[in-house]
Amino acid sequence: MAKKIKIPGLSEKLDAKTVSELSEKHFSRYGEFLVSFELSKHGWNVYTPVYDEYIDILIHKYYCKVCKKLWNHTPELICKQCGKDFTKTQKNKIQTGVCKDCGEAQTGNKSKCSKCGKTNILRRPSCDKCHGEIEMKKHKCECGSTKYETKFRTIQVKSSRIEDNKNSYAIDMKPKDLIEDGLHFYIWCLIDNDDRPHFLVMTVKNFVETMGKSLQGISFFKDQDRQHFNATDFGKWGKYINRFDKLE
Ligand SMILES: [Zn+2]
Ligand SMILES: [Zn+2]
Ligand SMILES: [Zn+2]
Repeated sequence: MAKKIKIPGLSEKLDAKTVSELSEKHFSRYGEFLVSFELSKHGWNVYTPVYDEYIDILIHKYYCKVCKKLWNHTPELICKQCGKDFTKTQKNKIQTGVCKDCGEAQTGNKSKCSKCGKTNILRRPSCDKCHGEIEMKKHKCECGSTKYETKFRTIQVKSSRIEDNKNSYAIDMKPKDLIEDGLHFYIWCLIDNDDRPHFLVMTVKNFVETMGKSLQGISFFKDQDRQHFNATDFGKWGKYINRFDKLE
């Protein structure tokens, strides 16, 4: 078992065993990481900004223009002659060339044929089965499309633990958070008493609509708004539970 290393001057909080023991700062990072992992499950590549400018994470994905499936950039490696697929597990079987005199497939970079000893070797990726040429084919979607697109989203993460002696979460939102370009989203990461995360995903518009009149309230106006809601059904925010589809 690894020895615990005590670093002088660092807070005891580093030894935290449960999420409730994490410092505010660490907890907020913890929430961002949980959200990042969750987003990867939904096919997003996740990036974090160098400086904190209200955007906590930038996400990005490539998808098929036609059927919207995730796009895989790995090209296929296929033998032109017999159709053998070397793309995934067979790369080490690709031969380095073929002897033009005796037809023997070659491995390595020797200038002499391993069978007849002549030096008439054609260098090219070759099939180990039929000695045909292997070609690199650009990825094609299962639907047949060769076109893909890219999308980017910016995410603001807010995290909350259950409030002391209550069955509720609390989230602070400010007018400056209302980035209404249609590409900005909120993900609230709520950690229950068993350290299980729950994710509320919403567009800025969803937030504005759900807030209703309280968006005009003096506390929101003054950066002092705090949304408290039930930790079991998430109150009026419950409809956004796991709505990762909203990001699409
Ligand atoms: Zn497709
Ligand atoms: Zn072949
Ligand atoms: Zn030869």
